[in-house]
Amino acid sequence: MTITEPSALATGKIWLDVTRQCQLSCVHCYNSSGPDGGHGTMTVQDWLRTVDQAAQAGVGMVQLIGGEPLLYPHTKEIAEHALDRNMGVEVYSNLVHVTGPWWELLQRPGMSLATSYYSADPDRHNAMTGRPASHARTRANLVRALELGIEVRVAIITTDGAGVDQTRTELEGLGVTRIGVDRVRPYGRGADTSEPSCEGLCGACGDGRASIGPDGSVAPCVFSSWMRTGNVRDAALADILNGPRMAQARATITAGKNDPPPNPVPCEPDRWCSPGVPDSGCTPRT
Ligand code: SF4
Repeated sequence: MTITEPSALATGKIWLDVTRQCQLSCVHCYNSSGPDGGHGTMTVQDWLRTVDQAAQAGVGMVQLIGGEPLLYPHTKEIAEHALDRNMGVEVYSNLVHVTGPWWELLQRPGMSLATSYYSADPDRHNAMTGRPASHARTRANLVRALELGIEVRVAIITTDGAGVDQTRTELEGLGVTRIGVDRVRPYGRGADTSEPSCEGLCGACGDGRASIGPDGSVAPCVFSSWMRTGNVRDAALADILNGPRMAQARATITAGKNDPPPNPVPCEPDRWCSPGVPDSGCTPRT
């Protein structure tokens, strides 16, 4: 294993994509997670070592995502490990089921919560998730998070923009202040074709951010997981981030872009990559 040097990712963020298991089977899920999904081949020691390397590389924030990250047995330990290294930790959960220990952890300084909300209309939301009671569960746990003073952001994911204004109004009424809107991305079950393409990416992928999948593979972001630039199980994270395969992936993603995003990219967590639908301030390739 190579000694980890501070990298160009200083103050950036890393997605820790810990599982493909989820209680839901959303029709748009960009990595096709679901009840039959597995936790991959990364051990908890692999994840903790990766967090150490990320902290050493200057990463300021990790996001735990999946699948449903609360279903992976070691997610809480990984989050606490990152907090202990002065990193911010966001958990991107579907909020279907949140246990008591998780509510306690989410109230620790440095922790925050994110979720997807498809519609103020329960039927429309549940049609997206494939589970009849999911709207009620997600909404109830969202309300509880707000009551507990947990920092929350919500992404409204839409196929066609219908009902977005009403959904935003409902969320604002509940007290959510960080609300983003994103279109369904053309990956996983949201894809029209079997071949993934860079056209669905915002263009900032790999620029101060990267994702690590359940098998340890490193990609420019969670949406571009087919662009494997190395694996943290057999190489140091900083070497992968600064390596030729990540540089090639960045070149491929930004090829032909006429309007490159400014550096640093204004891609805050509540504004992550929202091309297309509606009022987008993002500057994707298209
Ligand atoms: S989109 Fe999220 S909540 Fe829905 S199936 Fe995929 S991982 Fe689960």
